[in-house]
Amino acid sequence: MTFATLGLIEPLLRSLETLGYQTPTPVQAQAIPAVLAGRDLMAAAQTGTGKTAGFALPLLQLLAMEGPKVTANSVRALILVPTRELAEQVHEAVRQYAENLPLRTYAVYGGVSINPQMMKLRGGVDLLVATPGRLLDLFRQNALKFNQLQTLVLDEADRMLDLGFSEELANIYRALPSRRQTLLFSATFSDDIRLLAGQMLNDPLSIEVSPRNVAANTVKQWIVTVDKKRKPELFVHLMRKGKWKQVLVFAKTRNGVDALVEKLQGLGINADGIHGDKPQATRQRALDRFKASDVQILVATDVAARGLDIEDLPLVVNFDLPIVAEDYIHRIGRTGRAGSTGEAISLVCADEVNLLSAIEMLTRQTLKRQNEPDFEPEHRVPDTDASGQVVKKPKKPKKPKASGGGGGKRNLGKWVDSGEVAPAEPSIKPVRKVPVFNTGPRKRKP
Ligand code: AMP
Repeated sequence: MTFATLGLIEPLLRSLETLGYQTPTPVQAQAIPAVLAGRDLMAAAQTGTGKTAGFALPLLQLLAMEGPKVTANSVRALILVPTRELAEQVHEAVRQYAENLPLRTYAVYGGVSINPQMMKLRGGVDLLVATPGRLLDLFRQNALKFNQLQTLVLDEADRMLDLGFSEELANIYRALPSRRQTLLFSATFSDDIRLLAGQMLNDPLSIEVSPRNVAANTVKQWIVTVDKKRKPELFVHLMRKGKWKQVLVFAKTRNGVDALVEKLQGLGINADGIHGDKPQATRQRALDRFKASDVQILVATDVAARGLDIEDLPLVVNFDLPIVAEDYIHRIGRTGRAGSTGEAISLVCADEVNLLSAIEMLTRQTLKRQNEPDFEPEHRVPDTDASGQVVKKPKKPKKPKASGGGGGKRNLGKWVDSGEVAPAEPSIKPVRKVPVFNTGPRKRKP
């Protein structure tokens, strides 16, 4: 199969040739003809599957071939994304694909001045990539009109809900024309996403290119149990022992990012951090330096790391486990991309046992435990497995103390064969139509 047989026009084929794309990925093979035929889509596709081109290529073709010329302050296609970084990344891909087409494309997001964005929108834009909050600001200030909108794309819809954008999405939804094409992409399909899909999509075609909620199997995953207060020390120990070169590290909070970066820099380690409190320019600079290997360790919160596309990243470390289990899949999706192998190591303390259990249940695997001598935790992390069980071992009756008093080291868990995988769930369930869009606002996370 080639891109030409999928029905793409010559100017797009030329761009793809320049980019070196030879064969459509599975999500592209399914999405491109369906979008060209005007269908709504509900696609389960993880990052790294080529989903961006899957929606952007046919969208650009429709914009170039059909519909009126864009008028002042109008937009003909809108791609909503959860974060600034992803907005930049998606727009950059769109820009490359649209190189040979007479279309205007642009990206808007918060954290930077709104005035240049308002100026740019005056002439109208064929395709706009936007984060939900800034899009609404622009709309409310009459810098944007949706009367010409023909296609809406929700990219990483699960993340938008996780980040608390459900109210913004509902408001945007109310402002859009009801006759339009809608494409929804999500790595995971929770009930909230299904509600959203039921409200926004019209007879969608369901596409699934990887098993539901299963983490990339090209990534070797394991955990080390440790006491919370010793995590920084263990991180440095593992880094030196493993001679880590380029590592993306996830911490739970902004303060956690800053504290770890400070600690590493204090030890002369080349580290930088990105989180939502830092200005966009600073975040971008840290990311660029990391990509260029000028920074060895990049510590990030989930939000800030969204949209990082770094080729051949060998290692991801979860300094803290994510609060939302789906984030684990997003995090480890930063490594093992495009067929290369990667490694994901999680430092897990006793407080995090329920988070660990949720991840194992979601990814249907029992993560291997590897003990690090001299870092065995005093607060043991109970055994967990893919069934969601936290195995609390019955307390053994106390043995009478032997002379010398040495109780020996505790059993800190076991290596479990990755063959222990729970049976697969059915794939995407049919979309339910629901009368109200009530996924409800949620708290933003760091
Ligand atoms: P995405 O899942 O959209 O983030 O894409 C992941 C990476 O794959 C990006 O760096 C794309 O440029 C690249 N890519 C997408 N489609 C293809 C293709 N058909 N052939 C080669 N590379 C691709």
